[in-house]
Amino acid sequence: MSMIRLENLVKRFGPFTALQTMDLTIENGEFMALLGPSGCGKSTTMNMIAGMEEPSEGRILFGERDMAGVAMGQRGVGFVFQNYAIFTHMTVRQNLSYGLRMTGRPKAEVKARSEAMAELLQLTELLDRPAAGLSVNILQRVAIGRSAVMEPAIFLLDEPLSNVDAAFRAVMRTELKALQRQFKQTMVYVTHDQLEAMTMADRIAVMDHGVLQQVGTPLQIYNAPANLFVARFIGSPGMNLLEGQPVETPEGMAVDLGALGISPVLAPEQAAAALAARGRVVYGFRPEQVTLAARGLTLPVSFVERIGARTILHLGQGAGATKAVFENDHGLGLGQAVVLAPLPEAVRLFDAASGQALKGN
Ligand code: ATP
Repeated sequence: MSMIRLENLVKRFGPFTALQTMDLTIENGEFMALLGPSGCGKSTTMNMIAGMEEPSEGRILFGERDMAGVAMGQRGVGFVFQNYAIFTHMTVRQNLSYGLRMTGRPKAEVKARSEAMAELLQLTELLDRPAAGLSVNILQRVAIGRSAVMEPAIFLLDEPLSNVDAAFRAVMRTELKALQRQFKQTMVYVTHDQLEAMTMADRIAVMDHGVLQQVGTPLQIYNAPANLFVARFIGSPGMNLLEGQPVETPEGMAVDLGALGISPVLAPEQAAAALAARGRVVYGFRPEQVTLAARGLTLPVSFVERIGARTILHLGQGAGATKAVFENDHGLGLGQAVVLAPLPEAVRLFDAASGQALKGN
């Protein structure tokens, strides 16, 4: 049973708390990404799962088994780090087969499994090449293969793609996902790159400053961020967040956004949440979930960013700064006023004081 349960897990380094009371269940066969900015405690969490660090408080269970006091080598986990640890004096084949040989598997099995792994990771042509002299991209692929060939029930990867180049990273995202589908391991994947988390993970645990912020599927996190941190951190660009005051208009509930005007009428769930809100709210909407309309928020274009067919319009300034993403540029230029209407069903409201999403929206 390779379900992982973190119960009230805390890690302190002297007076500094790197991880604050974390509760998380990673299901058997699930691909869980630990996602957050540098220093948020992802590697610390991972190192405790691997058995490289002792928790200060709380428990780690694999299935029903408490891992306290169980040495790293006894946990049955595969681990791949950011910096590949490859034996450069060996060939690719010798590296891939190393673990199997060390555990005394029969020769024919070692050969078959190493070659199948090489095939999966497109290393067949390189099997008899010495590792020394191969590119960083290939070496990281060998490192992943060397761990994966052991078919660990739990596979831990800490930023395995951060040193490989961008094109190769895209290929590896697909391959890692295929690897996990094939072997059905429980996979924990540490990354600061939301694209990796969003494209590969079944669920994402978003962390910041040692605190677990939200756990959910990529779509849940994208559509319904639990708080302002997640709203800003997820999405490229992140969610637009404008502070305002809920108001009742003749057409229905809306948010008064000061100089930007009154928002379009809220959808029923958001309207109910706005009505129940005590104070000021943050009106959030994704840059890609907007239309140009006759009525909405009026903002001047401050910058036009074109990325291939995609255009990111930078609008307004300061607290009112907003972005809108379109598949064509609408011929808009600097200084021109734009009337933007966020899609009502995609709007999310947050409590301005606490930063938490308002209940029910
Ligand atoms: P990164 O991607 O930069 O590694 P991270 O989210 O993985 O970020 P951690 O490496 O888990 O972050 O570190 C979390 C915090 O704990 C950081 O502030 C780090 O400086 C601190 N920390 C980690 N290990 C130690 C240690 N051995 N002693 C003291 N502080 C530590």
